[in-house]
Amino acid sequence: MRICVDMDKCTGLGICESVAPDYFEVGDDGELRVLKQEIAVEDVTELEEAVTSCPTEALWIES
Ligand code: SF4
Repeated sequence: MRICVDMDKCTGLGICESVAPDYFEVGDDGELRVLKQEIAVEDVTELEEAVTSCPTEALWIES
């Protein structure tokens, strides 16, 4: 499974970073960077939480 981001919807608030810091980082420029796309099995719950926490619905998980 991998994490996907619609950058047109992302506003760089960084909630996903606070939920899953190993996967997301918002730079000083306010741009979101995905640090890892492939989701480790043990991180699936964390990434599902990041998806539901995103206020702009910019994240989803692809199988
Ligand atoms: S929580 Fe959503 S809007 Fe905020 S930085 Fe992450 S993907 Fe972007």
